[in-house]
Amino acid sequence: MNDLPVVVIGAGPVGLAAAAHLTERGIPYLVLESGDGPAATVRQWGHVRLFSPWRFDTDTAARRLLADSGWVEPDPDVLPTGDDLADDYLRPLADLPAVKPNLRYDARVVAVTRVGLDRLRTAGRDTTPFLVRLSTGEDIHARAVVDASGTWWTRNVLGAAGIPAHGEAAAASTVDGALPDVLGRDRDRFAGTRTVVVGAGHSAANTLLSLAELPGTSVTWAIRSGSPARTYGGESADALPARGALGARLREHVENGTVTLVTGFSVQRITVTGDGVELSDGTRTIVADRIVAATGYRPDHTIASELRLDLDPVLGSTRALAPLIDPNEHSCGTVPPHGVDELTHPEPGYYAIGVKSYGRAPTFLLATGYEQARSVVAALAGDWDAARDVRLDLPETGVCNSNPVVDGSGGCCG
Ligand SMILES: Cc1cc2nc3c(=O)[nH]c(=O)nc-3n(C[C@H](O)[C@H](O)[C@H](O)COP(=O)(O)OP(=O)(O)OC[C@H]3O[C@@H](n4cnc5c(N)ncnc54)[C@H](O)[C@@H]3O)c2cc1C
Repeated sequence: MNDLPVVVIGAGPVGLAAAAHLTERGIPYLVLESGDGPAATVRQWGHVRLFSPWRFDTDTAARRLLADSGWVEPDPDVLPTGDDLADDYLRPLADLPAVKPNLRYDARVVAVTRVGLDRLRTAGRDTTPFLVRLSTGEDIHARAVVDASGTWWTRNVLGAAGIPAHGEAAAASTVDGALPDVLGRDRDRFAGTRTVVVGAGHSAANTLLSLAELPGTSVTWAIRSGSPARTYGGESADALPARGALGARLREHVENGTVTLVTGFSVQRITVTGDGVELSDGTRTIVADRIVAATGYRPDHTIASELRLDLDPVLGSTRALAPLIDPNEHSCGTVPPHGVDELTHPEPGYYAIGVKSYGRAPTFLLATGYEQARSVVAALAGDWDAARDVRLDLPETGVCNSNPVVDGSGGCCG
């Protein structure tokens, strides 16, 4: 088993942080990334500015490896965009001579199991290699699997009950996922339209602020909860000022009428008409040309369905992690440090880390994922002291803990 590589799924920020720690510890590994380069999903929202300044956006092992190559660390107080994060940090990290040979792009993982063992078979599980299957049919054997594949491609539906609203599939051509580049490459699709944004998280706020800048565009914001307070968040009291400013600017647009807010709106039916598309909650109707579904994300555990996972029935994280990240209790800044112990499943050697580890909780921060990567890799190296010495220094905010999640969408960080 120890001659086999650790397979890391995904070359996003957290998968690459795991790669950096594996490199430092001299553990053979292979990162499998479905995109054609690193940070493929960060590129999807590359036009969006992070609310965390650079000091919270890079991993310690990655910084050490990069520093040895002459990389100049970005100004810690500057807020990068997603594209900056990819261009100025993740691409250079992925291209390091010590990392690059261990990366494979255009490699989509479709299943993870054990060689010759389905989920039912107990004998020999912990001594049997993992089998990681790619979409091409290629099978790769691994001693452990670190799943950092994120949640980007499995967004929540518009239907308020967690299943598609009536007519949602038929209206698909009028629906964009979260964070279209409204002022850039997607401008023509939105300029001069009636657009409704559904969702109450950071992504919804970002899109609404961009739409408000498009001349001639009528902007409606539909949320399930009775109040937008959670989206407005900590405003000037937020320890991450950029995140606070987002909420404050959105409040201004709502108060001056640039954005029409509809509260208590649970999408039940979507109907394409000759005059656009109608969203109905059973009693009220919103008429629009385009819908932006900023309804949050959910993890896709189907690739690991032949492994023994112990998932929290609400969040879809591990059960041990769930009480620590419950968005009803914790904001991004109050999530306690956690590592390998909280990320362990009954399946020895399989760990989901990064935003996927949080399941449906919308409170994930990069710094949390980097600490997860450090802890899990230390455990894989057998260095349990380091694995259990988990630390986190996150900026505090009252955003989520003072406003329990009743909307289920977006959140303060995603
Ligand atoms: C708009 C936005 C702004 C954010 N701002 C901040 C911020 O300011 N501060 C902060 O701390 N956090 C922020 N976050 C939250 C979080 O840090 C990011 O979502 C981050 O990208 C999560 O990193 P990750 O590596 O876990 O997942 P991802 O970045 O999603 O990376 C997953 C990778 O896995 C690949 N992949 C997926 N499926 C497969 C498969 N089956 N096989 C192989 N590869 C696969 C993907 O292509 C991708 O490259 C933000 C998130 C969003 C969406």
